[in-house]
Amino acid sequence: MKYIMVIDDSVTIRSTIKLVVKNLGYAVMEAENGQDALDKTAKITNSGDDIALCIVDVNMPVMDGIKFVGEFRKTDQFTPIIMLTTESQESLIDEAKRLGASGWIIKPFQPNKLIETIKKLVK
Ligand SMILES: [Mg+2]
Repeated sequence: MKYIMVIDDSVTIRSTIKLVVKNLGYAVMEAENGQDALDKTAKITNSGDDIALCIVDVNMPVMDGIKFVGEFRKTDQFTPIIMLTTESQESLIDEAKRLGASGWIIKPFQPNKLIETIKKLVK
């Protein structure tokens, strides 16, 4: 099975993204912060399944999105990562890119914009 990881501390945003990506034919795994996501991605890959994509919020408790990208890239150099940022966090995009983020979306986003970005990154 191929999973899209939806990593955000907001239940509302996770649900919105889940609704948008549900029809793309992937399983969705939600995580509420970077550490939770690292634990869950390890579980998924250890059981022989794949991560197709990570969609990651920047501001989260426990482990933020920037730290997550750095940690995730230590063991996975290729899975695309989309960052969810706000206008005021645009300066973080360069840092995220340096650590290995593949793309980003500025919140609030249109569902079509998310789908378009996913289709561009996931082959
Ligand atoms: Mg947040």
